[in-house]
Amino acid sequence: MANNIGVYLHIPFCKRKCAYCDFFSGHGDAAAFDRYEAQLLHSIDEWGAKAGETVTSVYVGGGTPSVLGDDRLCRLLHAVKQAFRVATDAEVTLEVNPESGKALDFCKLRAAGFNRVSVGLQSAIAREIAVLERLHTPQEAKETVQRACAAGFENISLDLMLGIPYQTKESLRRSVDFCVACGVRHLSCYLLKIEEGTRFFAMRDALPLPDEDAQAELYLEAVSYLEQHGLCQYEISNFAVPGFESRHNTRYWQCGEYIGIGPSAHSFYHGKRFYYPRDMRQFEAGTVMDDGTGGDVEEYILLALRLKAGLRFGDYEQRFGKRLSSAILQKISRYAKMGLMECDDRHAHFTPQGFLVSNTILADILL
Ligand code: SF4
Repeated sequence: MANNIGVYLHIPFCKRKCAYCDFFSGHGDAAAFDRYEAQLLHSIDEWGAKAGETVTSVYVGGGTPSVLGDDRLCRLLHAVKQAFRVATDAEVTLEVNPESGKALDFCKLRAAGFNRVSVGLQSAIAREIAVLERLHTPQEAKETVQRACAAGFENISLDLMLGIPYQTKESLRRSVDFCVACGVRHLSCYLLKIEEGTRFFAMRDALPLPDEDAQAELYLEAVSYLEQHGLCQYEISNFAVPGFESRHNTRYWQCGEYIGIGPSAHSFYHGKRFYYPRDMRQFEAGTVMDDGTGGDVEEYILLALRLKAGLRFGDYEQRFGKRLSSAILQKISRYAKMGLMECDDRHAHFTPQGFLVSNTILADILL
């Protein structure tokens, strides 16, 4: 059993659905927020009564948690602290979107115990934000970061998206410059994926999307330009000033345990993976779906190799009581010769070029 866990709360509300998004979220009014808060408080209490482990990270994500307003968010965090044993130095993250972040009292949130803010920006270029059908301006994102900073938040992240229609290497550099000028110490940069069921999926043939080569160029540009600005890659899509890596998300990649609460939230707890369905009623009914046993050799290797620190052979041996198979080591050294991985006698990791084709390589390594 893990001696520490993370807690994730899913807030399934957004002011408006972005064109590319397939997260479980929808519109809600004050009555829906109150009803959901009551259900979440109930589930937090139930889980807290079962979990004796120390909670070292809490993450309130969504959806758009900031639409709930600071009072509800503070009550939710208070409930987590009452129900679970939360470490005094736990990382406590709140996802904020600029348009609803405007109304938040960051001093109140900081006093309640939130100590990390993750702001959804996606792009600092007005035309790119518009095509994504997001509701904010770059200026509003900057003001959100400034207000969080002024309230004492030192650990602030911005999200950028790669592969947006019309995006070029030059416009990407301008978005990165914008983030750097905001003074943030963490950036997430995810490649746009066209998911079935989204408006982008319906429009996909008409969208001026960068092709695979252009996407790869944008990714490699992001990695090198961010490194030049002191934001070091620590995961396939995440960059930070050393010391500001997300502890909660790193837990996922290290096969650490966590309890996710809310519709669509996934958990890995006591060796089992399970999740709440993407359905509010089923969440209210407490329905949980079994997702099998977690943390096996394949999953461990797959997740560890998302990290720049990569797969540490000593950690693997300690966890599984055996050495990494020679077949896997041989494949790793073959990919290292091709410049897609780097390895020595203690660990192996992907290079940025390797990250771009990591799915194919992992499928081969884990064959
Ligand atoms: S704000 Fe985030 S969660 Fe909400 S629709 Fe947009 S991308 Fe999806």
